[in-house]
Amino acid sequence: MEWTFDIRSGLLVGAVLTLLVGLLLAVVARAMPAAFRPALTWWVAATLLQPAGFVLLTQRDHLSEWLTIVGANACIALAFAAYAVALRRFFHQQVRPLLLAVMVVLAVAISTWWGLLEPDLTLRLITISLVLAWMLGYSAWTVYRSPEATGPLRHVAGGAFTFSAAVMAYRAGVLVVDPGQVLTVFQLTHVQVLTYAVGSILPVVATLGFLLLCTERSQRELERAARMDFLTGVYNRRAIEELGTRAIAGARRHGMPLSLLVVDLDHFKRINDELGHAAGDLALVQAVARIRESLRAEDLPGRLGGEEFIVLMPNTDGASAAAAAERIRESFSGRPLELDGQRRGVTLSIGVAVLAPADRHFSQLLQRADRAMYAAKHAGRDLVMSDPMSGWES
Ligand code: GH3
Ligand code: MG
Ligand code: MG
Repeated sequence: MEWTFDIRSGLLVGAVLTLLVGLLLAVVARAMPAAFRPALTWWVAATLLQPAGFVLLTQRDHLSEWLTIVGANACIALAFAAYAVALRRFFHQQVRPLLLAVMVVLAVAISTWWGLLEPDLTLRLITISLVLAWMLGYSAWTVYRSPEATGPLRHVAGGAFTFSAAVMAYRAGVLVVDPGQVLTVFQLTHVQVLTYAVGSILPVVATLGFLLLCTERSQRELERAARMDFLTGVYNRRAIEELGTRAIAGARRHGMPLSLLVVDLDHFKRINDELGHAAGDLALVQAVARIRESLRAEDLPGRLGGEEFIVLMPNTDGASAAAAAERIRESFSGRPLELDGQRRGVTLSIGVAVLAPADRHFSQLLQRADRAMYAAKHAGRDLVMSDPMSGWES
């Protein structure tokens, strides 16, 4: 028996698949972080609009041409616009409604003019293909232009849109070169089959790609959150140990000094006791902000726990680290913190240690900086003390 392929059936299968993917996405969206909701909603809208357009296309012999030509193209163009909005919202890029409106209006105008008023199938297919290629290319561009999308997973969504845009442009090209190619929309020419096959597969692959982008981002955010101190936004203890170990390896490899400060707020318990725990929290946040003012970009501040912080200072010898510590200390002793309208003087005790040849682990460096900090406490607080072993390299 002769093998036949019916474009209309293909379109219907594509429409059903897209609809299923869209419904699945709507269900999955509820388990996604709330921040993804707006982008997901637009994406779901796209996966509902596109099948509507495809179904209308198949009804050429049963419904009015207004619906099957203009309505179908409007649905498809709106769907492509919705993909673009979803991607732009996802990547926190400005949504340009005017640009998208121009694209959709062009698609509607073309299908109205060369579909109904001055029917010309070839011109209509060429121009509508170019508009749709532009729209799909815009989505591809949104993915690839985003500074965030750097991992290999971006190629699933990015590639799906790029490829679909290329197929649309190819169709326009083929029809320009050979205008007699297509006599009816459902003719089995390779361009028509390719166009509708890609159109049916695009939503499935692109939706998978979009979900991958969502999970990749939430994964990254979770990893980030696991390394950060929730209250003050600096690295937490777990991240500090990792960064410290890495910094030691780097310092050894490049023969550069590495210094560490341990910073402890003096009599912090009194702030909690006298002003309340919330004011204590505020004091910690403000203290971190103030410590940061005295640091260079490459210094790494972290919270060891409670009211105890560290600063990891790459490429910094003991003298420079002690000078930086002194600057930090002075920035507190000369200027009270503002806690909910109350001014409250806070002082710091800081211990300084420099990586020594004998240090095998970060914990040894930390221990010496900690001891120096305790020495500062015992010597009366509001002081910077250097670990005696740290004089070796200066
Ligand atoms: P010292 O000068 O010897 O360092 O005295 P201190 O009061 O600063 O030190 P101590 O270790 O006795 O008390 C630290 C206090 O910090 C106890 C704890 O209630 C408080 N603290 C620890 N973590 C937090 C926090 O996240 N928020 C608030 N508000 N307080 C905290
Ligand atoms: Mg303290
Ligand atoms: Mg303490």
